[in-house]
Amino acid sequence: MSVAAIVPAAGRGERLGPGQPKALRTVGGVPMLVHAVRALSRARLVDLVVVAAPADGVAEVSALLALHDIGAEVIVVAGGAERQESVSRALDALPDDVSVVLVHDAARPLAPSELADAVAETVLAGNNAVVPGLPIADTVKRVGAREGALELVTETVRRDDLRSIQTPQGFDRGVLAKAHAAAEEFATDDAGLVERLGLPVVVVPGSAEAFKITRPVDLVLAEAVLAERRARGAL
Ligand code: C5P
Repeated sequence: MSVAAIVPAAGRGERLGPGQPKALRTVGGVPMLVHAVRALSRARLVDLVVVAAPADGVAEVSALLALHDIGAEVIVVAGGAERQESVSRALDALPDDVSVVLVHDAARPLAPSELADAVAETVLAGNNAVVPGLPIADTVKRVGAREGALELVTETVRRDDLRSIQTPQGFDRGVLAKAHAAAEEFATDDAGLVERLGLPVVVVPGSAEAFKITRPVDLVLAEAVLAERRARGAL
């Protein structure tokens, strides 16, 4: 029985602006994908990492990961046109002995290894689907109608029972495979597919450092997190 981590890394990342696929852009001089795979491979409970690379970049990604000191076994497969397809393809490539699967976005390169272990541990304790979540700091409002070019607020949403959900998310392998096989529409995360099966998903505390790099300012934040880790000798 082993634990595998799937890393969907096939997105273009257009919101970051023009350039390389997002997972290959660098933070602290190292591609985001390398940060993400390294952190997962350092997790105590992760035995294997499967990366879904851009379909035309499998050889490049394999070479890149071989260049860096990863530690754990890494398999690279071709991703799909949507994140969900990338995860499905990686699931199909898992060895038979894998019973627990973590799914972690390459776009969250600084998620600590301890977070992956906490999620895996909660799955191993008997929970079929586990997500890290953080309370929401901002006030959340729903918008609907427009006034000219501007949006109008229709409602302020109670935020004490809302969570901002991150990755790595962890699953019993059979449950995740069933959720993907049953998916008729795309979901923005894997736990969403499990919810559609009517199965419970549990939340563990997330990490502020597991933020997703989406906009250019997130790259600045990531550099600052790395500088702080360097300063306290944690790199
Ligand atoms: O675009 P977004 O930030 O939501 O992507 C989340 C993760 O899914 C990223 O790591 C991205 O590389 C991955 N992805 C993928 N295949 C796609 C689209 C996104 O693996 N077709």
